[in-house]
Amino acid sequence: MARVVIVEDDDTIGDRLTAMLRAQGYESEWCPDGAAALARAAREPAELVLLDLGLPDVDGFELCRRLRERLPGAVLVVLTARTGEMDVVEALESGADDYLTKPFRLAELQARIAAHLRRASPGGRGAGDAVRIRHGALLIDLAARRCLTPVGEVELRPKEFDLLARLAASVGQAVSREDLMSDVWDENWFGATKTLDVHVAALRRKLGERVRITTLRHFGYRLEPPPGH
Ligand code: CA
Repeated sequence: MARVVIVEDDDTIGDRLTAMLRAQGYESEWCPDGAAALARAAREPAELVLLDLGLPDVDGFELCRRLRERLPGAVLVVLTARTGEMDVVEALESGADDYLTKPFRLAELQARIAAHLRRASPGGRGAGDAVRIRHGALLIDLAARRCLTPVGEVELRPKEFDLLARLAASVGQAVSREDLMSDVWDENWFGATKTLDVHVAALRRKLGERVRITTLRHFGYRLEPPPGH
């Protein structure tokens, strides 16, 4: 049974989350502050942590970092009333795997928890696999499927995101059109298609100077390393 730890100082939210998680068949434990959360983390592992960033006794980002160290295998989902994208980036850089902005729907939280635990379970994606790719000023968050910059999120369509993630996974390397089509569109590539080029053009337009995607004639594309790398 998956162990879910709730770190939340609001009694009403804590009660509701505990009831919801138990009803879903998880073992859930509620910690009302940072000290209780750290004590819990030292006692035994957990599969998932729901962490409210606004706690009375400790800075949420700092707690996030310390929980990340103590529970390296756990999925950390941050719950925040803060909506600034800088906070989102800082939370992800502090070790969070995902985040939800308050107020959120319980159904949305349930779906995210189920998806994370499925991925983290044996047969799913291992906890050691990268869930975020840092590319210069971009933070490509594979778990949340978001592309973040210090000045805000860049809205990408699903295939644009997949294409960026695929190129970023092979940064500095030439990737053939065939590989991009089969990895991103999940289909074999026969002859000319404009789909790939249209999506590359969209990435260049939306991301501007943050990415440099070189066209390799009669071959494919290459995402150049960010400046300074
Ligand atoms: Ca709070």
